[in-house]
Parts: sequence; C-alpha cells; structure tokens
Amino acid sequence: MLEKVLIANRGEIALRILRACKEMGIKTVAVHSKADENLMHVRLADETVCIGPNSAADSYLNIPAIISAAEVTDAQAIHPGYGFLAENADFAEQVERSGFTFIGPSADVIRLMGDKVSAIKAMKKAGVPTVPGSDGPLTDDHERTLKIARQIGYPVIIKAAGGGGGRGMRAVHREQGLLNAISVTRTEAGAAFNNDVVYLEKFLETPRHVEVQVLSDGQGNAIHLGDRDCSLQRRHQKVIEEAPAPGIPEEARQRIFKACTDACIEIGYRGAGTFEFLYQGGEFYFIEMNTRVQVEHPVSEEISGFDIIKEQLRIANGETLSVTQDDIKFNGHAIECRINAEDPKTFMPSPGKLTQLHMPGGNGVRVDSHLYHGYTVPPFYDSMIAKLITWGPDRETALIRMRNALDELVIEGIRTNTPLHQELVRDTSFMEGGVNIHYLTKKLES
Ligand code: ADP
Repeated sequence: MLEKVLIANRGEIALRILRACKEMGIKTVAVHSKADENLMHVRLADETVCIGPNSAADSYLNIPAIISAAEVTDAQAIHPGYGFLAENADFAEQVERSGFTFIGPSADVIRLMGDKVSAIKAMKKAGVPTVPGSDGPLTDDHERTLKIARQIGYPVIIKAAGGGGGRGMRAVHREQGLLNAISVTRTEAGAAFNNDVVYLEKFLETPRHVEVQVLSDGQGNAIHLGDRDCSLQRRHQKVIEEAPAPGIPEEARQRIFKACTDACIEIGYRGAGTFEFLYQGGEFYFIEMNTRVQVEHPVSEEISGFDIIKEQLRIANGETLSVTQDDIKFNGHAIECRINAEDPKTFMPSPGKLTQLHMPGGNGVRVDSHLYHGYTVPPFYDSMIAKLITWGPDRETALIRMRNALDELVIEGIRTNTPLHQELVRDTSFMEGGVNIHYLTKKLES
C-alpha cells in the first residue's frame, strides 16, 4: 500500500481524506496556507508544511510549492480533493513527472474531459447519450451555424469548450439573437478561459440534474455506485443532493449506468469520477464529466456502504477494483445538505469565529466537517463549512432525520444557510421529489 500521501486541499475534504488514510495505515502530509494552520486535519496529520500566504493562488494553487512539499516530506502520492488543482491536467502531469503518484486519472484523460467539445465527442463514441448539438466547434460560417440551430430548434445554448463553474454559457431563444450571442460568448470565453472555442446545443427548459458515480481501475474494470439527484441549485451551485435520484424508471437507470461504466473502460479512466446528465422527458443527456471526487460523494457511500476515498487510494496504488458490481448492494436513501457560512437571505459570506457549536447525531446521521468549537472560518476560501448527511431505509425517513438533524445543529458566531435548508426539507415539491434545476431559483425569487 501507499506509505505516505500528501493532501493538497483544505477543509472538510482534507479531513475526509486524512480519515481514510488513517484507516488504511497510510501516513499523511497536510499542506496549508498561513490562514489555515489551525485546521483540524493539520492538527491530526503526521507532517505539515505551510505552502504559502492566505490567498489560494499563492498556496493551494501553487504547484511548485506543493511539489516541493511532497519532495521534502518524501510523500509518495498526492490527493487533490475537489476544487483547486483537482482537475488541472498540468498539475497531474507535473506531479507524475516529479516522480509522485497523482491520485486521479491520467493528465491526458483530465484534458480530454476538461474540454467540453472533446468530452462530448468521446462520450458519443462510447455510446453515452448527449444533448443534440453542433457536434464540434462553431466556425465563422454563419450560414452553417444558423442551419445547425434551425435543425436543433430553439431555444439553444451557446457554451464555451473551456467553460466551468457555470460560466461561459448563454441561452438563445430566437434566431435574431444567435450570431450576436455567439460573438459575445466567444469573446468572454477567450478572456476567461484563454480558449474561445464555442459550441451549441439544445437548451433543455425543465431538466433535472442527475449524475452517476463511477470508479474504474484503468485496468479494464469499472463499477458504478448509482445515481444522485443534485437539481436543487443556486447559481449552478448545488445546495442539496440525494441518492438515489427519485422517480427514475429502473430500466432507464440501468441503461445509463451501463453506458457510464462502458465509457470508463473505453477511455481508460482511472479513479473516481462522475458523469453529469440533464434528465428530461425520461431521457438522459450528458453534459460533462468530473474527473475527481465530488462534494456530494457521501450520499452514494451511504446507500452503497462503499468507501470511495479508500478505493481511490487503492486504485492509485495500482490495484484492480476491490469489488465487482455484484458486490455492491444498494440500500435505502441518503440526503446531503451543504452548510455554508453565509447569510441565509442575501447569501453574503459570513466568516468569523465560532462561539457555539453543536453537531447533530443519532441513527443515520453523518457530519463531514472540519469545524470545532472556537474555530475561525477564514474569509479567503469557499464558504462551505459542513455537510450534513442523513440516511434512512426510505426517502421519507432520510428526510425526517434531516429535519431533526438541522433542528439540532447549532453554529453561532457566524451566519449560516441552515434556515434555508430547514425550509427546503419542509417544501412540499421537494418532499414529493423530482423538482427541476430552476426550482430553487424560482422559489427564492418568489
Ligand atoms: P459547468 O462546467 O460550468 O458546470 P455544465 O455543462 O455542467 O457547465 O452546465 C452547468 C449548468 O448549466 C447545468 O447544470 C444546467 O443548469 C445548465 N445547462 C448546461 N447545458 C444546458 C442545456 N443544454 N440546457 C439547459 N441547461 C443547461
């Protein structure tokens, strides 16, 4: 097994990775910014290295500093977590070139899936259903572009090949607006992503966001851990996730699971990954693949009883998958609420020192969080401070446990979005299951 892993991340996911390493007898190196020297996982790691000042650009995104830290501590492998450098192919390449193992897929696969045009092409080839679209970049041939859009039918959406984080997209409802929208998106994409390639696809008006968790060893084996519904979003940021996605016919689910595991084998995928789909009218449409562990991975762990991070570590060690699909038995339902340090009404970040902290517990309650009494939430990073996960033998029980858990949760000294979650888990449409991706935005506007 790997002997020592460097955790190139912070907050709850760094602690999650540290816990998995400890369970497996792997030594850990925590790298952190100046502001983060009091993080829980930094306290618990075998070794720690301060890699830079407070700003993420100078610390968690500082590739030379992270690689030097791996060198001085003699770590064997680097776990990137999510966010920061997790989907940066150049980082993965430099890690491997410096003689360390990158815990994730190869740089080539990250690059392939990081460009949406090449990702869609690869997925189509592998038999994964995609959104009807331009099948490649839009060119200067305006007549061709107009023809493609007419064939697809309005509304359409222009998307940047290099886009991410919900940026670089523009919906177009009528032909008159198309060429101008393309030109604006192209200019923005060039400035934001250093890549002005844009493409076009059908704009789906009331889709749900349904994704499939996979694990593959890069040695011809792949499994899925079922699907997740992440349709409750605000500004393309997920707020509540659940597994399994409610109300999807079993036949459609099995078909998409098979398409995803086949695609992993086809592209030589190694590690944990997620295929994201829009789901509308009983059909799945691939939008992108995340080549890393995701924030919402615990809901899949809860319904499968399978530890995704530990399997990532085994795969990085060169092992084949430790289980087959038949070994995975799904049981019950899980829900995750992302607790953010922010005002529940204005969504303004609310960093600061915790004066009171009480985490919920009981049957089927899991809390993934780096918080402790007296901890100060710094203003420099993402505002997510805890993930509350509940499991139940059925969705109803998982929901009741989530209501109870949210009511027990006490975080004082800062503001959090807990009141919003308390409202959402009592919302009749959410309770029915299957709301679309616009539901939360519309609810917040009304
Ligand atoms: P990013 O990489 O920026 O997250 P995605 O391709 O995953 O971009 O899309 C982000 C979100 O944009 C989706 O969750 C969905 O809300 C919306 N979106 C993307 N493509 C479409 C589409 N074809 N029709 C409707 N909405 C879309």
